[in-house]
Amino acid sequence: MATALIRNGTILTDAGRVAADVYVEGGIITRLGQGLPPQADTVIDASGLFVMPGGIDAHTHLDMPAGDITSTDDFETGTVAAAHGGTTTIIDFATPEPGASLRSALDAWRAKADGNAVIDYGFHMVMRECGAQTRAEMGELARREGVSSFKMFMAYPGRLMADDAAIFGALRQARELGGLVMVHAENGGAIEVLVADALRRGNTAPKFHALTRPPRAEAEATARAAALAEMAGAPMFIVHLSSAEALEEVRQARGRGVAVFAETCPQYLCLSDAEYERGGFEAAKFVMSPPLRPIPHQEALWRGLAAGELHTVGTDHCPFGFEAPPHKQRGRGDFSKIPNGAPGIETRLMLLWDAGVRTGRITPEQFVELTAAAPARLFGLWPRKGAIAAGAATR
Ligand SMILES: [Zn+2]
Repeated sequence: MATALIRNGTILTDAGRVAADVYVEGGIITRLGQGLPPQADTVIDASGLFVMPGGIDAHTHLDMPAGDITSTDDFETGTVAAAHGGTTTIIDFATPEPGASLRSALDAWRAKADGNAVIDYGFHMVMRECGAQTRAEMGELARREGVSSFKMFMAYPGRLMADDAAIFGALRQARELGGLVMVHAENGGAIEVLVADALRRGNTAPKFHALTRPPRAEAEATARAAALAEMAGAPMFIVHLSSAEALEEVRQARGRGVAVFAETCPQYLCLSDAEYERGGFEAAKFVMSPPLRPIPHQEALWRGLAAGELHTVGTDHCPFGFEAPPHKQRGRGDFSKIPNGAPGIETRLMLLWDAGVRTGRITPEQFVELTAAAPARLFGLWPRKGAIAAGAATR
């Protein structure tokens, strides 16, 4: 069994830091301590360095179909990029065809990943509805396949959007299973009206993508999701929270004791809607949902991270080509046809460290919490992942 020793480093976890060596056997940490005997196949000197758990990115879209195209990273290229950026585990989204079983999607996504991914991976299960058959499948996948999280959309009517009854039903079932329902919280119905309105007026440029998805549409759906979770007595996870208004709804719900957790992403912390003023068709590169927000939202999100009101930082990595392949060009003359998404799987940890830890907005311990420990706990990977402790995996 291959052994490794990481010497002289400072172990950094969500709970604090301690100077100790780390001894690894077959990919599992077996000993922590000072001055461990330096006999190992690989010895790494970590003097002056932090030794922290591998990053967990709980929000990626590799090899994801979008109509007749797919996102441009597959499970090989995407996970190689992730590994270069310090992320050693991803959780992607298995998405059934309309009317198809959850199992069929899990099998399909495993086939995309198996033998291609170079790091560990798991799947959230996307659901559009929550009838008796689907509820039974949730139980089977939770018990037999280790699927602990179920994703539903409050946006994209006619394609992915689930109604309140479905979300409420999923919450009640997830509560029984000890699982977690995740939602994309934007009011899809109102947004659809705003988009049609903009196009009718000839407002077709990429920036109207952002202008037709206002923060209040996100806040309304966030509040509704939290209320459904409250009534169901179940936890809820809000993905890619982008606005101060939505954060305020999370804060209020948590103040009532509702177990609402929320993720934000580097793009909402580091970029703003100024990108939509780029000339030519460049702004299409920044078309994602929710959209980039005006600058003041960034500070609100940083304060939310520091205060523990936002719980994880994932990427929503979902790259589409600009010119080669010309995916984004499909939206020339109609912003609603621009495939939504941007890359980020490789740069998450560097961006959060530079923009968050170096500036003093969050502590190194919070960095580990947001990027590894909290996603491990929320998605059933703790303590094998997200920790530097005896019994934990090194990736
Ligand atoms: Zn996403």
